[in-house]
Amino acid sequence: RANRKFHPEDSVIDCGHGVKIGGDQFQVIAGPCSVEGENLIRIARRVKAAGATMLRGGAYKPRTSPYAYQGMGPAGLDLLCEASAELDMPIVTEIMDPRDVQVFLDKKIDVMQIGARNAQNFPLLKEVGKTKTPILLKRGMSGTVDELLMAAEYIMSEGNDNVILCERGIRTFETRTRNTFDLNAVPVLHHLSHLPVVADPSHATGYTRYVEPMALAATACGANGLEIEVHDDPSHAWSDGAQALTPDQFDDTMHRIRAIREVV
Ligand code: PEP
Ligand code: MN
Repeated sequence: RANRKFHPEDSVIDCGHGVKIGGDQFQVIAGPCSVEGENLIRIARRVKAAGATMLRGGAYKPRTSPYAYQGMGPAGLDLLCEASAELDMPIVTEIMDPRDVQVFLDKKIDVMQIGARNAQNFPLLKEVGKTKTPILLKRGMSGTVDELLMAAEYIMSEGNDNVILCERGIRTFETRTRNTFDLNAVPVLHHLSHLPVVADPSHATGYTRYVEPMALAATACGANGLEIEVHDDPSHAWSDGAQALTPDQFDDTMHRIRAIREVV
């Protein structure tokens, strides 16, 4: 169960490659929005050198338009696995279809991400719940905290307790940012649940210039980790270039994140 009543201590989740998240174990997940090809390994080397402990990248992309880039599919998973092996870091990648669970298991994907658009896709939640693979579960675009916790419950009720919650911004009347970053959710989720909480300032803000300040704020308010999009050529990124940090910007941000971690 996700409720702290049943589990007073913070859960610590083993993501593989010796990386644990939760409690006082803080991790930064970084990488491109989409796996695009050979630039993945270059970006991965840079984010690792800057201090990221987990690599992200989407091989299956939930795009608003069916004509937009949909992701590389299994070939993208293979590129992630090669980068993971070279750099000895766990990978986080989105799964959109319950029929793909076996492929993700066969390729030994370390962490499966459930995206905001699938936050209440109950058949998908139940199917990943039948595995033991850690799940990074994002809050729905217009999902409440309780709906996020109930989505976690769908996964856990099938037997998978390895759920990491993710605040990635919610849709409000505000249009100056892509979403409204609900940092209240971080302490609220810690109060209600023992599960680790990650914050995603990239999707929450939608613009590179706001990613660092909100990454620092999320760190300060007690997130157990951050998910940050990084691209080596943001203006040519196949998705979400407007919110990507360059590797140099990410390196600067990591220094400031570590400074905040020292004081909280
Ligand atoms: C992503 O992580 O690239 C993504 C699509 O995020 P979200 O589901 O939060 O929109
Ligand atoms: Mn993205």
